[in-house]
Amino acid sequence: MNTRVLISVFAASLTVAGCAQPTTPEQQFINDAADALGGRTRIQAVKTLTIEGEGTNYNLGQDMKPDASTQQFAVTGYRRQIDVANSRQRVEQTRTPKFAYFQGPQPQKQIQGLDDTVAFNVNAAGAATRLGPAAELDRRHDLYHHPLKLVRATVDPKATVGNVRQIGTVRQADITTAGGAKVTMSIDAAGVPLSISSKSYHANLGDVVITTTFGEYQEVSGLKLPAQLTGKVDDFTTWEIHASKQTVDAEVGDLAAPASLRADKPEGLSPPAPAPPNVTVEQIGKGVWVLAGQSHHSVLVEFSDHLMLVDAPQSEARTLAVFAKAKQLVPGKPLQQLVTTHHHFDHTAGLRAAIAEGMTVVTQSGNRAWVEAMAKRPHTLQPDVLAKKEQRLVVETVDAGREYKDHTMTVMLYHVEGNPHSDTMLMAYIPRDRVLVEVDAFAAGSAVNPYAANLLENIQKRKLRVDRIVPLHGAIAPMAELEKVAKP
Ligand SMILES: [Zn+2]
Ligand SMILES: [Zn+2]
Repeated sequence: MNTRVLISVFAASLTVAGCAQPTTPEQQFINDAADALGGRTRIQAVKTLTIEGEGTNYNLGQDMKPDASTQQFAVTGYRRQIDVANSRQRVEQTRTPKFAYFQGPQPQKQIQGLDDTVAFNVNAAGAATRLGPAAELDRRHDLYHHPLKLVRATVDPKATVGNVRQIGTVRQADITTAGGAKVTMSIDAAGVPLSISSKSYHANLGDVVITTTFGEYQEVSGLKLPAQLTGKVDDFTTWEIHASKQTVDAEVGDLAAPASLRADKPEGLSPPAPAPPNVTVEQIGKGVWVLAGQSHHSVLVEFSDHLMLVDAPQSEARTLAVFAKAKQLVPGKPLQQLVTTHHHFDHTAGLRAAIAEGMTVVTQSGNRAWVEAMAKRPHTLQPDVLAKKEQRLVVETVDAGREYKDHTMTVMLYHVEGNPHSDTMLMAYIPRDRVLVEVDAFAAGSAVNPYAANLLENIQKRKLRVDRIVPLHGAIAPMAELEKVAKP
């Protein structure tokens, strides 16, 4: 036997046993990802990354049908600047709706900032507004939804990598950054990051997983970086960006939050609490009240032995305040039906609270499966009133129209057919008072009313005699106002 070979093998095994620790699956995971991106040394030298390109935004919770993703915004002028060494990021983009958007067809510029724990948006006039707690947490996670930023963050000794598991050819690990962001990264057999995801709580959807997937890796200044990035909430694609240019260590300027946002909360930099619900009451007929006070309203209708509510918008907190106001206005009659005008998230944030209250959900037939899904979704991260209560869901559907009538009250519900805002929208008509309740089809005083002509068509087709329109945004208007706005 060759002695020299023996000695070298022995020396090698001594080195493994005596000096270096064996590589753990966690170290191996990060090493492989770092190598695929250009190596640990190169990654650690990076100060900033600027991604420029264009893409698409989708309209989760606001599309034509609950299961649709047909409404898109073209995204141009996209620029994401990541301060890789610090926890700062700025995203600028211009969104142009490719559909009949309620704010009109003009492009909208958006600026989204993050400075450590402070997330903010900057409007066209340059004024910065801090985000609420849920959106702020999502944006703090979003900073780490880029493989370069995330792998670099694992260098911090306070960051942890754990629970490495193999799913087919994909390896996954859970990573907690030094700042407490918790994400899961998936890499392929070669170590190339495929996706990064984080858990989040959504007021309508409950527990969700927000995922960014990466593709089309390209060489950029000695690094391998993805040029295709796609964002999802659970299985719903919310945005896609294709990078046309990526720059390492470009001057990014000052990405710090404006002093005003930091200075007013020096004690803990906590995001602003949402405004407490404000429910005002305006009686518009015998047993009919508009419950307004904020941007989204409800209408309460009294029958001989129960109450019907049209819409439970904005939040669970507002909906519970609306319930309390209804019980105060009409003591002793149960809230029995919730009519949802349409499935959009801002108008159905109180849907689950209504189910918890034992109310029957009345909705257009095309929304049935969606209502059933919403009722079942887990809300464990922030349990809402329905999560804390066993309640059987009862759904009643409206095809073209449906009458709710007793000896004191009649409410007619009609499908707003062909409406370009939502395919599955209802309007409510109270014949006695010649009142029509609708939302998002017409609001008096609105700068643009792209759906008003369709509303007028629906009223005329049903031969409804309407004196007043009660929009669930904005003020009550005479029918003449709709006729004026709907004319081309
Ligand atoms: Zn809507
Ligand atoms: Zn609306």
